[in-house]
Order: sequence, then C-alpha cells, then structure tokens
Amino acid sequence: MESVQKTIVRVSQELSCSPTSLRVAEHLDQCDELRHLRQEFLIPKISDLPPSDLSLVDGSEDCVYFAGNSLGLQPKNAKKYIDEELEKWAKTGVHGHMKGSRPWVWAEDNLEEPMAKIVGAKPEEVALMNGLTVNLHLLMLSFYKPTPKRYKILLEDKAFPSDHYAIESQIRLRGLDVADSMLTIEPRQGEDTIRTEDILSLIEREGDSIALVMLSSVQYYTGQLFNMEAITRAGHAKGCFVGFDCAHTVGNAEMQLHDWNVDFACWCSYKYVNSGAGGLAGAYIHEKHAHSIKPALMGWWGHNLKTRFLMNNEMDLRPGVNGFRLSNQPFLLVCSLQASLEIFNRTSMKDLRRKSVLLTGYLEYLIRHYYTKDPSDPDKPSIHIITPSDPEQRGCQLSLSFSLPIRAVFQELEKRGIACDMREPNVLRVAPVPLYNSFTDVHRFITALGSALSACGAKH
Ligand SMILES: *Cc1c(COP(=O)(O)O)cnc(C)c1O
Repeated sequence: MESVQKTIVRVSQELSCSPTSLRVAEHLDQCDELRHLRQEFLIPKISDLPPSDLSLVDGSEDCVYFAGNSLGLQPKNAKKYIDEELEKWAKTGVHGHMKGSRPWVWAEDNLEEPMAKIVGAKPEEVALMNGLTVNLHLLMLSFYKPTPKRYKILLEDKAFPSDHYAIESQIRLRGLDVADSMLTIEPRQGEDTIRTEDILSLIEREGDSIALVMLSSVQYYTGQLFNMEAITRAGHAKGCFVGFDCAHTVGNAEMQLHDWNVDFACWCSYKYVNSGAGGLAGAYIHEKHAHSIKPALMGWWGHNLKTRFLMNNEMDLRPGVNGFRLSNQPFLLVCSLQASLEIFNRTSMKDLRRKSVLLTGYLEYLIRHYYTKDPSDPDKPSIHIITPSDPEQRGCQLSLSFSLPIRAVFQELEKRGIACDMREPNVLRVAPVPLYNSFTDVHRFITALGSALSACGAKH
C-alpha cells in the first residue's frame, strides 16, 4: 500500500494545493467509502458541550469527537431499540422473556456472532456479559493456577488501574506475595513504548516462573498495539497461559484471537464499540479449553439453555466461556450493543482498518508538519508523538506529548468544540475513529489546536 505521506502529497499535487490545505481533507472524505457510516451516529453539537465558547465557533456545528477511545458515540438506533423493549415490558410484563425480536432469555445470543467477527473468534468462544473487570476476574479465577514454581503474572508497568488492581487482588486471593508475583515490563530508559523483542526475551528468560501473561493488547495510555500473536507463541513455548485485555483493541484493530491461539481475552464495549457507559462486556475462551477449563464460580445462566428452566439443581454446564455466565442479561444493555454491532456488520474490520491507517496517518502528518521540534526556535511549542509511528503497532489513537503544560491548551480546545482526553501534565490522547470521524475532523482539530496554542500565548 502507498504510504500515507505519499498519498497526501499525491492528492495535493492533483488538486494543485498545499498538503496542509483543507481541500486535501475534503477530497479524502469524498473518496472515503465508509463515510456514510457517520450518519448512523448522534454527534454532539458544539453548543451542547460545555465549556464551548460560541464567540469563537458556530455552536450549531458538530463537535470534533476524538474521544471514542474513552466513550464511543451513540448509535441512532440505540434509543429506538430501548424504547421497543420498554414498551414490551410495559405491555407484556413477564412475557417479554420469550416474546418479540429480542426475547430477554436469549437476547444476547444474536450478538455473539457479530462480536466474534470483530475479535476474530468463533461465536461459541465469545460470551457477552457483566462488565470488563468482572470478566477479567472470572477468567483469572480459572486461568491463574499458581504452583510453587510457576506463580507470576506478567503485565505492563502502568497498566490500566482496574487491571492492576484485579491482578493484585487475584494474587492476594491465592495467599501469595504481591511484589514477588507481579512481574511488570516497562519501556527501555528514554523510550515511550515497550519493544516486542523485550517482551519476548523476558518471557523466554522468566517464563518458567510465569503462570499468566496478562497484557493489554492496545495500551490505553501510549496507544501501542502489541504483537499478540508473537507474545502468545512465546508464552505457550514456555508453558504459560496467555490472556489479553482488549478494551482498546476491539473495534479498533484487527484481531484473530482464535487463529493466534490466545487462551482467553476480555473487553468492554463502550469505547470503540459504542454501547454506552457500563455496556455489556465481552469474554473469550479458546475452544481448545472448552472442556478442560471450568468456571470457578457458577450461576444458572451457565446452564444449558434447553434444560435451564427445569430448575432441578443439577448443573448441565455449557462448554467453554458460556459456562461462565452467571446472571440473566440486562436487556436494556443488549439494545444499545445490538444497535452498534449492526453498524459494524455493514463493514468489516479490514475496511475500517484501511481507513483508520490513512485517517490517523493524516493526523500524524499534520502534527509533524506543524509541531516537529525546531532546535533553532526553542520557544515554539512542539509535540512529540508517544504512539509508535508504525501502523502495525498502533490503532487509531495518537498520544501527544506537548513541550508545554497542557491544561490551558486543553481548555482552549474545548472552547473550540474539540472533545479529546487530557492526562496531566502534558499529554493529549486523540482518537480519530474510522467508523464516524472524517478527514475534515482531523483538519478542524489541527486548525483549532493552532488557535488554542495562540490563545495560550504560545508562539505559533
Ligand atoms: C476501559 C478499561 C477498563 C474499564 O473497566 P470496566 O470494568 O469496564 O470499568 C479496564 N481495563 C482497561 C485496559 C480499559 O481500557
């Protein structure tokens, strides 16, 4: 594939304009075969987003929503489906369990197939249930079986707090020493992200003492996408189980959980999968474990559906991850997830990724153009991109490290209708999401950033 930079330069030559011109963005939008998917989402208007400043921007315009890594936008059909179920509940009460297009007793069963497609698994390897951290615990209860020799869990240094706490408490639950049992890996001195070779050599070196390799697949802070296939192979070569937290990967990058032989995985569905905060989370267990790995905790929803309601108290456990189900499903959460998965079903992760590489590459190109550090002009604000520049090692998010404190700049961006995420002291995480963001959004972001920096008195 033509490199992103080449594409941008070629388009600008065809249009006889500068590569930084808005016309390039507009042209890329016209060529974008997925642009119609944006219409399936509700995009907040600038005037509805405090603290926008309507003396600076037109409040009736859509905001530039680059916060999909934190919370995806609402699919238009979410409300329709929720209304349908509320109506059904009002009119038929308990009969709603068996009636309508989403009988509550098995409402989520229709969603496992589209979800499995997104993560590269078989439908029977995926369960939609609970929240992410709950699923992480349930999976670790079965996959983390420490012995005196093999008892460590490998995770990233500065892992997402919930994952860190979950792992820490699982270790404590087994009566083990936390400091000795948590093996963390961090970037080399002076580097921002972790080299794959360093992960592999650590597993090679310490693998005999590692029970579980438990990394995120896209690191939430740096945006680094780990080589899940190579890590899984290395872990298995040393006899470890390998699991991933795919919260920032699902709906963002292509995965082949089954083919890569990943033992287990979990994810939430409210980031790139747009199901709304606290939406129904996912869990995956490879089919090779379907009969050997059992849930530590059981509930009636893990029982074979055909005989579940005989209520004879003899567990007929569903194989694999479905046996890990505990409770009946929250039907309102099924609705919004269904609305989102239907949109994914109109495209493929492959096509989304193709757009994503260009969209994020375009953002990267413009940031480098305007904000590369200039040693002869130390007062000019500069941006260092923490996220790897290799598209194979990232999803859509870029983490931007500024040469100046970020809080005031972030506030100025918000006033201009930009939604993204700030981490003090100086990092912005911006996620152009291929499902609903446009190349024009990227251009508007860069323009707003220049204006925000000027408003903060930075030389620009
Ligand atoms: C978003 C995220 C979570 C959030 O966990 P919940 O149980 O959904 O609140 C946990 N871990 C990672 C890596 C995340 O990105």
